Amino acid sequence: MVAERIDVTGEALVVHRFGIPGSRPKVYLQGALHADEVSATVALVELVGLLQVADAAGEICGEVIVLPHCNPLGAKQFILGRHAGRFSLDGRNFNRAFPQIGERVVEQLKLLGPDRQTTAEALRIGTQIFDSLTRVGAPVERLQAALMRLAWGSDVIVDIHADMEAILHLYTSEKSWPVFQPLTRGLDIPIVILSDKPADSPFDEVHDETWTIINLLLGESVDHPKIQTAVCTLELRGLSDVSAELASSDSQALLDFLIHSGAITGTSETNDDAAPLLTTLDAVDVVRSPTTGVVIHLKPLGAKVSAGDNVARLYDPSKPDPEASWQDVIAHKDGIVFARWHQRMIQAGMAVVKIASLSRWGSYEPGRLLD
Ligand SMILES: [Zn+2]
Repeated sequence: MVAERIDVTGEALVVHRFGIPGSRPKVYLQGALHADEVSATVALVELVGLLQVADAAGEICGEVIVLPHCNPLGAKQFILGRHAGRFSLDGRNFNRAFPQIGERVVEQLKLLGPDRQTTAEALRIGTQIFDSLTRVGAPVERLQAALMRLAWGSDVIVDIHADMEAILHLYTSEKSWPVFQPLTRGLDIPIVILSDKPADSPFDEVHDETWTIINLLLGESVDHPKIQTAVCTLELRGLSDVSAELASSDSQALLDFLIHSGAITGTSETNDDAAPLLTTLDAVDVVRSPTTGVVIHLKPLGAKVSAGDNVARLYDPSKPDPEASWQDVIAHKDGIVFARWHQRMIQAGMAVVKIASLSRWGSYEPGRLLD
């Protein structure tokens, strides 16, 4: 095991590496990209401990990279005594606008001629591009380039976040979903949300897009193994679901997934009976707050609701009449409440609850992400 500290504009990004660099499969796991999603951090720290034991026993046959907390910039964002994750202080969502370098790599590959249009050359060129990107731009852009460089060329990427208050759920693409079925069984994830529509360049999706572009070129030249990066965003419950017990069971499930993926030898245990609700991103009902005020949730996480059900009540403190100051918040679809706003003051337009629709098809605005 090698522990590394990478400097990102003066802050330390800590990386744990296992296995021989370049061995396959390469599996990359990072936590807390939005800085306050520390259920991911404690699970991944525990996983590092489990991997150290596996390493000592000679059981690591692939390459495994683990970043328990991948956002050293956001980790220090305290404002007036409160931690502020999700956005950098210059207003950027940490998980948007990651650099997509597919076309740049293809351009450089074409200059090399057909004989050198290989995956190995694509990996080398991409690493050079990310190297240069880590030295320019705003701190967030440098951090994003550093993360892309570390994960570059992975076979499997697990980007672990947390929602506000939430039950376990997982976002992935139709293409990547088979790779993550064992993880879903191991963690007993009840909701899986599929999306194949391009969004705002989040970390996971950019890897998929980049290699799709590169493989199009490689497919026309020599025949050799290509990188098909399988990506997912795992929402490890809510921001406050942080405990030693959960970290222990989550890390064991992640280790089992690594065994299943072939990065570690051994036998894994999964619950073959687990069957998640499979839905699509555009079918999720995001019920937004009509006003700024006090929210009282009426449905617990995991509750099954019907269209027309009251899922919350909102009190608007600007209205003088106590009766008229309350509003009902109504579900638009039948489904499962999988995430809720975590504070009891809410701003107009924010998501009060998110409902995974029992139908896979819906009308949620395409190209937008929920997290
Ligand atoms: Zn997040």
